[in-house]
Amino acid sequence: MPKETLSPAECRDMMLAVADAIIAAEPVLTDADRALGDGDHGIGMSRGMNAVKDKLAGQEFESVEKVFTTMGMAMMSSMGGASGAVFGTLFRAGGKALTGAESFGSRELAAFFTAASEGVQTRGGAKVGDKTMVDSLAPAAEKAVAVAESGLPEAIAAVADAAESGKEASKDMIATMGRAKTLGEKTLGHPDAGAVSVTIILSAMRDYIVAA
Ligand code: ADP
Ligand code: MG
Repeated sequence: MPKETLSPAECRDMMLAVADAIIAAEPVLTDADRALGDGDHGIGMSRGMNAVKDKLAGQEFESVEKVFTTMGMAMMSSMGGASGAVFGTLFRAGGKALTGAESFGSRELAAFFTAASEGVQTRGGAKVGDKTMVDSLAPAAEKAVAVAESGLPEAIAAVADAAESGKEASKDMIATMGRAKTLGEKTLGHPDAGAVSVTIILSAMRDYIVAA
């Protein structure tokens, strides 16, 4: 049965599924970063998600906020590099926006991704069009606000689609941030590696919510 709201324990299980999806996609992320950067994105994300599993698996959480902030801090302290700060901030800032929320539904989804997108852009300075994970995250956040009054399964499906479209759009962008900027026009045709990670995170969330 699709879920309309998630308890803290269900959020934890959803994020453990996200961690497994990223770990399984390590070779895909490595290839994506090799085309544009130094090829370490898969290893970094996988290391971060193993740290997340260590902190979440078998633990009880008193709030949905704590699940996501714990995840963000585990990523920040284990990954290093640009993406440790960026993806750690995504989960930490998103989680903080859920203070006081008793469960995770479509309104919380909107609050989470709005704060995550703002937090990442404030922290990293990248805007839409710079060919970073922001190109997937920002449209996902906009869509989450647009569908905040829908049911959670419908909302997460729309948000995952928006992230995927943003990732595809990043193929037509010339990198201006991070390592890839030195490659300039050579980055055309390849999606940003971090945007690929965002789509994997969101499709794993969708699969958990729709199928669970
Ligand atoms: P590094 O750049 O240190 O090698 P990774 O390869 O793990 O780190 O991650 C690269 C990804 O991080 C990029 O594909 C991009 O999506 C994201 N990224 C890098 N810098 C920024 C930034 N300033 N803002 C948002 N995302 C960024
Ligand atoms: Mg890299």
